[in-house]
Amino acid sequence: MRETGRRELVRLGANESAFGPSPKAVAAMTAELPRLSWYGDPESLDLRDALAEKHGCAPSEIVVGAGIDDLMGLVVRAFVAPGEPALMVRGTYPTFLYHVVGYGGTAVYGSYRDDGRPDIEELAAIARRAVPRVVYFANPDNPSGDFVSRDEMQRFYDALPHDSLLLLDEAYADFVDDSDLLPPVFEDRLIRLRTFSKAYGMAGARIGYALSTESNIRTFGKIRLQYGINRNAQIGALAALQDDAFTEYVVAETARAREAYYGLARELGAPCIESRTNFVCVGMESAQRATRVMDELLLRGVWVRKPGAPPLDSYIRVSAGTEPMRGAFAQALRAVLASPRTSLS
Ligand SMILES: *Cc1c(COP(=O)(O)O)cnc(C)c1O
Repeated sequence: MRETGRRELVRLGANESAFGPSPKAVAAMTAELPRLSWYGDPESLDLRDALAEKHGCAPSEIVVGAGIDDLMGLVVRAFVAPGEPALMVRGTYPTFLYHVVGYGGTAVYGSYRDDGRPDIEELAAIARRAVPRVVYFANPDNPSGDFVSRDEMQRFYDALPHDSLLLLDEAYADFVDDSDLLPPVFEDRLIRLRTFSKAYGMAGARIGYALSTESNIRTFGKIRLQYGINRNAQIGALAALQDDAFTEYVVAETARAREAYYGLARELGAPCIESRTNFVCVGMESAQRATRVMDELLLRGVWVRKPGAPPLDSYIRVSAGTEPMRGAFAQALRAVLASPRTSLS
């Protein structure tokens, strides 16, 4: 906003929910605001009870954190000693890498295939060779939006060395049917991460959780901040969980937004990657042109972002917007691509 001198942008750059949090979550948080002088429950008991019911597990198999980004730091601190390897796809969601570097681990990389999908066969092969302490994988993936099916995921998990832990980032799992996800297995070498930031529209509240064995959860309990979770976020998350109708509405609207972006890409002759998330990557032929298109969109008041690493760096990534936001994006993109400097060949 400062760069453009605008006071408002069409925010389609950070995969935030354009549909907001549940009105019931807002009401519950608003009603509790006068009690902001209290610390939150350090054990998040009510929220963990509700989450345990949702996932058919015990509250002792859940730890609540200040979002997935926070929880990934706990995983690295708990399991990756300085100098030890941790594996991820180069160019995937970056926070895990930041923690690995920050805590002195050694990053080992797999890659995306030319079609933009993470190469999970290569990733498993590297894991068998390097035996990393942690293998990080986002499914659905960010920034590609790609989704690895339940069967493929099961084969991948089975192919990993038993001394490696799979850190499965499921930030976008709420946009996928449960029957398409890896079944709820609770084993020491599997940690799954979930968040209220995406489908639940509460990114600014900073709250998410990890699902794993009681033993792993106990380990996180030793190193996490006792009062690290915003009390109001605990209250909002609990209310959001109880508003299924709203979540279903968000998921349906998000699917509609993806279809609108696919349609726009077809109209403009641009390729896109099929997405199971709340964003779509639209191909701009080269990294240079993608950057230019992103910059030109910003000058027109539309904020999108683009992946940084090849082969996805030739795409722009646009988050699911409301209908007016989608319209503003479409209009701006058509105008940008009609100008000779940024037209597609
Ligand atoms: C948005 C996102 C996150 C961040 O989640 P928070 O709970 O807000 O920290 C983590 N992983 C992926 C893949 C994401 O896209």
